[in-house]
Amino acid sequence: MTVTFTTKLVNVLGDKTAKALTKAFDMVTVEDLMRHYPRRYAELGALTDLSKLEPGQHVTVMARVKGAKNYSFGPGGRRTRTEVIVTDGTGELKLTFFQQAWRLKTMEPGTLGLFAGQVTVFRDEFQLTHPDFEPINESEDPAENTRLGRGVIPLYRSTSSLPSWRIEDCVGLCLDALTDLGDPLPDSVRKKHGYLDMRGSLEAVHRPRNRQDYERARARFRFEEAFVIQTVFAIRRAEFESEPATSRPEKPGGLRERFEERLPFELTAGQEEVIAEITHDLSAPHPMHRLLQGEVGSGKTVVALLAMLQTVDAGGQAAMLAPTEVLAAQHYRAITTMLGDLAKGGMLGGAEGATRVRLLTGSLGAKARNESLLDTASGEAGIVVGTHALIEAHVQFADLGLVVIDEQHRFGVEQRAALADKSATKPHVLVMTATPIPRTVAMTVFGDLETSTLRELPAGRQPIQTTVVPVAEKPAWLERAWQRVREEVGKGRQAYVVVSRIGDAVEAEAKDTRSLLDVYAEVTDGPLSDLRVGMLHGRMTTDDKDAAMTAFGAHELDVLVATTVVEVGVDVPNASVMVVMDADRFGMSQLHQLRGRVGRGNEPGLCLLVTDSEDGTPTRERLDAVASTTDGFELSKLDVEYRREGDVLGARQSGVRSSLRLLSVVRHEKVIFEAREDADAIVTADPQLLGHPVLAEAVRTLESTDQAEYLERT
Ligand code: ADP
Ligand code: MG
Repeated sequence: MTVTFTTKLVNVLGDKTAKALTKAFDMVTVEDLMRHYPRRYAELGALTDLSKLEPGQHVTVMARVKGAKNYSFGPGGRRTRTEVIVTDGTGELKLTFFQQAWRLKTMEPGTLGLFAGQVTVFRDEFQLTHPDFEPINESEDPAENTRLGRGVIPLYRSTSSLPSWRIEDCVGLCLDALTDLGDPLPDSVRKKHGYLDMRGSLEAVHRPRNRQDYERARARFRFEEAFVIQTVFAIRRAEFESEPATSRPEKPGGLRERFEERLPFELTAGQEEVIAEITHDLSAPHPMHRLLQGEVGSGKTVVALLAMLQTVDAGGQAAMLAPTEVLAAQHYRAITTMLGDLAKGGMLGGAEGATRVRLLTGSLGAKARNESLLDTASGEAGIVVGTHALIEAHVQFADLGLVVIDEQHRFGVEQRAALADKSATKPHVLVMTATPIPRTVAMTVFGDLETSTLRELPAGRQPIQTTVVPVAEKPAWLERAWQRVREEVGKGRQAYVVVSRIGDAVEAEAKDTRSLLDVYAEVTDGPLSDLRVGMLHGRMTTDDKDAAMTAFGAHELDVLVATTVVEVGVDVPNASVMVVMDADRFGMSQLHQLRGRVGRGNEPGLCLLVTDSEDGTPTRERLDAVASTTDGFELSKLDVEYRREGDVLGARQSGVRSSLRLLSVVRHEKVIFEAREDADAIVTADPQLLGHPVLAEAVRTLESTDQAEYLERT
């Protein structure tokens, strides 16, 4: 039998073992098992003596179980703690496991094994809590090609029914049986970096003889992950470039030029630069795919509006997609206001050559909706602003030339594609996000887009001062926070109070955070009783939401108690202070985004982060970091460090996420850059990958996982 990567495990390992692997790790093929790289390695030459332990140290020790016992504790004695004493002849160490009474069976006195973990001190004793445990079979012959003979023992992610050594046995069987090994890495690329071939790498990662072996192999597999992802993107970029699109060049004397002339401010140098890039992209005969990253308040909307007007000038239409109705309505108002008579095409008081701007959201009344649909289909409306309602099948455009997507993180690739399908030729696409992400993350998550970045804020913009209000230590500070709100309102300014949940009947569980309804009741009854306070949250009717937003925008309200619906893009320049309740419940980038809602006018903004978290905890450190810098890019880096990889990548590219085993989009910057360059070269020389069938297959697999996981989610 020839065994390849695609051979089913059952054919090599038999039914029972294959089933166990499928159940535990969802493995089906030999490749699935080969890609289950060891989590760490125990080097027999580098074991720690129990007499030389130090607190905080990560250690692997080889020791024999001296005794083990279960203890009951907690209410009703329902919880168990298993204590195991091990010795290596030089000293003793206590291992502790909670709620794992079954451990006792695997740790009979006399058992020899490897224990790995971090040394802690508890009641003057060294201990390891929940260490990795790998029993050693002493009847094993320490001959040449056994793990004891090699001196390095791989430790696999394992389960109680499939311990590491059994996985190791299965891996060994498959490795020995594998005959035909394809490699997604083209030889030229592999040799350029001095990586081992596939067989050599698999041997070195699963059966290493020393640290150098497995480190070399891991480096290669890490590169391979980056390389396959970057090949997917290189192909997509090449496809965009070969697709036709209608060129939408600038028109002298057009709406764009007339609008630019009446802008009440000077564009920043950054805005000018990005606009030049977009102008160029729109004039090209193939579709633009650009990501515009910009610090909160950096003025992305104006950039987008200029691009939309250029498209209209060239005879096309532009659609602007927003993630929420509140935001769509606000963009609509902002755009019609900014354009003035330029947006009153065919209407009383309209300027010559003016266009029309229409709003299209799910909750529009039948009449308004029909008008919007008609103007969109006829081409009367040059600019259509809306929510995902714009994507629905019955919405037709006369000539859709540009799609602008605001706050991308809420939109998937698929929705982008659905909109693009509304046009005979591919429209140009501009994606805007206010959540700055590190460059390598952008390359992995948005690798198919060109990126532009707006770093500077318009001149005269006031900094936002952020202060942590630690109610656990300083309860009086909360009262002081409300006083600051009253002072700002006294100066004619407005305030947001942001909460992490609503607290209505829909929320079944009681939680330990302050709800919107509670906070609203509390402040209107107490510290803010003489102010005009409104509320805004996602479960209000659209009319109520609109009414609240409009009232706040028109300064008919002083204070808006809201959930994170105000997070994205809400723009009320008169708002100068924001109080975030339970600030520790929000991510760092999210807090940064939130506070960007204040200080948009000419006076400094103030953001107060109220928290019960205690000084010195990681939670508090995160809040202190937010308070200490206003650089969104800096924060996004920190944020990424605090979060798990999966959260960083988000819902987009879930296939990519699940393909990452060794590659970190945060730490392996150089690998990602190199892989991108190499992938580009390969795709440029051979766009169909005809000479690289294994790579082509890996690309297909990655793309189909992306699709499949998306379908599962919806
Ligand atoms: P964001 O990038 O967060 O979406 P906006 O586009 O909403 O930011 O812009 C924030 C505010 O700054 C708006 O009121 C906008 O009119 C204003 N603005 C944009 N560009 C400039 C500029 N160059 N100078 C002064 N104000 C500007
Ligand atoms: Mg915006």
